[in-house]
Amino acid sequence: MRIFTRAHYHAERRVIPSEAKESRVNDSRASSDVQTGEIPRRLGMTSEDSLAQVTADIVNCFKCPRLVAWREQVGRENEHRDDGLALTDAYISACVRCAPPDNKPLPVERVTCLPYLKRELDQLPNLKVVVCLGAYALEGLALVYGARPRPRFGHALEHTLPDGNRVLCSFHPSQQNTFTGKLTVPMFDAIFARARQLITT
Ligand code: SF4
Repeated sequence: MRIFTRAHYHAERRVIPSEAKESRVNDSRASSDVQTGEIPRRLGMTSEDSLAQVTADIVNCFKCPRLVAWREQVGRENEHRDDGLALTDAYISACVRCAPPDNKPLPVERVTCLPYLKRELDQLPNLKVVVCLGAYALEGLALVYGARPRPRFGHALEHTLPDGNRVLCSFHPSQQNTFTGKLTVPMFDAIFARARQLITT
């Protein structure tokens, strides 16, 4: 998933990203647990939370055995990654933090991981725009916000969240979309130009 928001540490506006699809029953339970604080309590959240604390908790999280095994295998294969990319006025997040095999997280894995997204969002007071990369990202964001009715996904569609922040949808930049031309560079650039426009108006 991908989202865009205004951020935290620079007191400026910024952005985040998200991903795909799943079980409505589990979605409903996840939303309820996140909203009522049940999962955050189980995760040990406190009123003194911070982005650094969320990051530390994710790094030390072993709640999904299947994903933990996979991430440790992938991590060993990519120990020296350094792409030189920098992020400006944006924060990147995800519905499921550990990359799943075949890029297919289980419903229970999303339920388990979503509270981390909520904790991050709570730490982004300047959040203004969320860019969701794929329907999965939009679904996860809607669960965290308890948004009803669920916002509809479509490339370049925009929605307003219950707190007034804006959501901008984009096809996920997966090879399946980019290699087939479903998502082109101009289309993707236009999404971020629009995000910038939204945070500066
Ligand atoms: S996917 Fe999320 S909840 Fe599951 S092990 Fe990774 S960080 Fe923890």
